[in-house]
Amino acid sequence: MTSNYAEKLYDGYGQSFEIDEVLFEQQTDSWHLIIFRNKKFGTVMALDGIIQTTEKDEFVYHEMLTHVPLFAHGAAKRVLIIGGGDGGILREVLKHQEVEHVTQVEIDQAVIDMCKTYLPNHSQGAFDDARANIVIADGIEFVQQTDEKFDVIISDCTDPVGPGEVLFSSAFYEGCKRCLNAGGVFVAQNGVAYMQVEEVLTTRRRLSPYFKDQTFYCAAVPTYIGGNMTLAWGSDNASLPSQSLDLIEQRFAASGIKTRYYNPAMHCGSFALPQFVVDALKDA
Ligand code: SAM
Repeated sequence: MTSNYAEKLYDGYGQSFEIDEVLFEQQTDSWHLIIFRNKKFGTVMALDGIIQTTEKDEFVYHEMLTHVPLFAHGAAKRVLIIGGGDGGILREVLKHQEVEHVTQVEIDQAVIDMCKTYLPNHSQGAFDDARANIVIADGIEFVQQTDEKFDVIISDCTDPVGPGEVLFSSAFYEGCKRCLNAGGVFVAQNGVAYMQVEEVLTTRRRLSPYFKDQTFYCAAVPTYIGGNMTLAWGSDNASLPSQSLDLIEQRFAASGIKTRYYNPAMHCGSFALPQFVVDALKDA
């Protein structure tokens, strides 16, 4: 008999997955972690009742959260990933040959281990790359204490409940600014605008003391239900979101990187925000 996995993220509305087979389920140091098989989305990982990633649509999220800041920056050598235990962001960052070093700070070793076993196509061996340094720690403590500096920081975190909540705080954004090189870019997953518009406004308010330019860009990820995700963006270089399509096309072609969702036109268009978000931000 098939059982269902019902996600508990919003009051009054949710999505449900048929579970064909549970591959792994355990209470880790930080989460209730479950990895199961579903006909439509392949292998699915959830933490504390919230879907984190699926085999079938992960490329949308990982490509957009990685390649937009990296191609916008154009010369990132040092990258910091916060969270990202499934390894999808690390895989995409390491496609950039100009990146010399990646530090990834993940709070829970079990997420990395179980994703390597049950979602191997997310990391594709990236955790063993000589350019990657994996640190098991709380991301907020790392950015407050490290002496390292980075050109791009990517926060691939859980939603703002439980251990992920601090990664949406002013103190976290201040820490990211302190370890970002001049001209660097900070990006973060920031929920789905239609469902969580308050999070967009809160993040904008909290980023503004630390970054001259704070905006959002969009990507539609099927399993993050409700339409476009708004990915947060902070930088002191306000010209980056309006770089020309020609420039991004040149950088993308020179990289030789193959993608399934990201392309230069998606990159440039992703900074266009729906009017209800524009209006909400005016009052933020
Ligand atoms: N893409 C997903 C989403 O949008 O819901 C999130 C991906 S999941 C890989 C997020 C990762 O952040 C998890 O591996 C989790 O363990 C990690 N994480 C949560 N809070 C953290 C913290 N305070 N410091 C470091 N990693 C954290």
